[in-house]
Amino acid sequence: MPLIDYSRGIRNPQALDATLSVVSSADGPYSDEQVAPGVWRYDFRAGGVGGDNRKLIDAHRLGVTIVLFRKLRPNLYQAIYPARVAHVDLENAYVLVSLEELADLADHEPSAVERHWAEYIAKRRVHQPAFRGMVLKAYDTQCTVCRFKHAELLDAAHITADSEATGDAVVTNGMAMCKIHHAAYDRDFLGVTPDYTIKINTDLLNEVDGPMLKHGLQEMHNLQIQPPVRSSERPSKERLAARFAAFSAR
Ligand SMILES: [Zn+2]
Repeated sequence: MPLIDYSRGIRNPQALDATLSVVSSADGPYSDEQVAPGVWRYDFRAGGVGGDNRKLIDAHRLGVTIVLFRKLRPNLYQAIYPARVAHVDLENAYVLVSLEELADLADHEPSAVERHWAEYIAKRRVHQPAFRGMVLKAYDTQCTVCRFKHAELLDAAHITADSEATGDAVVTNGMAMCKIHHAAYDRDFLGVTPDYTIKINTDLLNEVDGPMLKHGLQEMHNLQIQPPVRSSERPSKERLAARFAAFSAR
């Protein structure tokens, strides 16, 4: 059974009582947008409470879970599941679709504690997986340092740290790295210059140890990272420069 209805943006299989999935796309014809952490507005299609919108309203009435597909870029979707139709606004012809855990928050103004909780959940369930997916896709699922190619052992490393206010989960703030190079980058054992040259910490370069140190780290010194093919997805030179300054200062 197809999970997405690409032309309508809402998938209502005949055999089901309620909607199976909706597509949220920032550039689509409907103003689908994230209105709060983990909550998206989904505008009704033309036709009022009938047609495709009826099963969407029924999904709310029946309290069933649906899938929200976020269109990250052409041909790349993130499945948000389980999600719920948490609120129906008939007058203004839209629904709010939320992460299941946050469904109870969607119909009132959240308190400061609730908002903090929602941000935490949205980061884990939405932004981090999307960041990883976008970055691994951009780097053709290989470590930008050593070309290792198994997704299970690859991460999306932040250039500007996640904990900083400007550490956005955007593809230009990421690099695909294997576990060891990611950890080495985060701890400043390994740096990347704004012109994509790999540098290994001097102390580490002078150390004598086994094959991981020799082949995995020391031999990477002064090599070039493998950047994404698309220039729009390459790591930000400004971010790399700021991060490399911190690496050099150690
Ligand atoms: Zn690697």
